Amino acid sequence: MQVKQLLVNGGRLKNTIEAFADFGRTDHNGVTRLSLSEQDVRVRGYFTACCEELGMTVKVDDLGNMYATLAGSEEGPPIVIGSHLDTVKKGGRFDGVLGVIAGLEVVRTLVDHGIKPLLPVTVMNFTNEEGARFEPSMMASGVLSGKFDKAAMLEKKDPEGITFGDALQASGYAGEAENRIREAAAYLELHIEQGPVLEKENVKIGLVDCVVGMVCYEIEVTGESDHAGTTPMDMRRDALFAATDIITELRRKLAVLDPELVYTMGRMNVLPNIHTVIPNKVIFTVEARHKDMDVVREVEAIIHGLPEEVLDCSVLKTKLWGRDTVWFDPDICGLVADATQKLGYSSRKLASGAGHDAQFVAGFLPSAMIFVPSVNGKSHCEEELTSYEDCEMGVNVVLETVLSVLSRA
Ligand SMILES: [Zn+2]
Repeated sequence: MQVKQLLVNGGRLKNTIEAFADFGRTDHNGVTRLSLSEQDVRVRGYFTACCEELGMTVKVDDLGNMYATLAGSEEGPPIVIGSHLDTVKKGGRFDGVLGVIAGLEVVRTLVDHGIKPLLPVTVMNFTNEEGARFEPSMMASGVLSGKFDKAAMLEKKDPEGITFGDALQASGYAGEAENRIREAAAYLELHIEQGPVLEKENVKIGLVDCVVGMVCYEIEVTGESDHAGTTPMDMRRDALFAATDIITELRRKLAVLDPELVYTMGRMNVLPNIHTVIPNKVIFTVEARHKDMDVVREVEAIIHGLPEEVLDCSVLKTKLWGRDTVWFDPDICGLVADATQKLGYSSRKLASGAGHDAQFVAGFLPSAMIFVPSVNGKSHCEEELTSYEDCEMGVNVVLETVLSVLSRA
């Protein structure tokens, strides 16, 4: 017997995306919804109402993470679908919220069809993923995974001096530690790609197998300041000329390391930064990302191999931080790939170059991520766009994966 393919309701999904975007919508159709701000508190209330209407139970843990659960016919570790409802300032309508709405639409579809799942299905909203108001990003999932210390996080201040702990209390979302998620049959996070690859290749679904590892170094070049008019060229110690030579050397070496390596020198300070004075100091960052940690270590070797002295200027290299590649659960990734194939959607494997809650969650729950195309690769801006049709395909993949986890429970 041919079983009819269960699909989500695309029209309702579109309306839901726009309904959530009304909480903090900007003049140019973006969204500003900083963590625990008034808009965030209001969208949390709306999310709760949507879930309770479906008969779900909503709990909150001690970091303000929300768990809306549709009971299963049996007790057991839930299938979790989640992401974050907070945005950066003047962000978009899709980053984060799509992963939460995906969970909502999956549950709505189950309820539409009178399907009572064998296992509980939990839709999650992580607090402060963006780190746009309180640094660091992925704060709450970081605490859940044990990467961040809760007490230290509660003391983090926003630019106005309000601590995360105080904002959490004031929001009414300081819940119980006992509500924290500890086990799950699967954790699924649907997210926009935030890059141009899927759109460029006209592929609809990104099967994310990892979040890439990275390192960040600071290079400090020290020369000597002298008058720009009176000092002959051969008697100078120009830190900027030395720095540009170093950057050229780095680019030459990094360019041939691996085609998938990405590297950025995103911050540079030139001192004293006066047009009549030879620069005596240049400080810049080198950040590199790759899924193969051996490649990342080669980058580190290249940085450490830079000369101690260039054009009579001293060169100091300091590692600021790094993180290892996080691989998602091969079993759950396999189910996502099978679901995508069953639906007949085009797909490709993709590594996530950006950080997500799933990378911390993967440390204690079997996790996978699914990407949908970002128009022009844009995100964290008002132009951020993913077509409703592509969102719908992504949510269908989540639904189909949930059904396959349930079918073998
Ligand atoms: Zn996000």
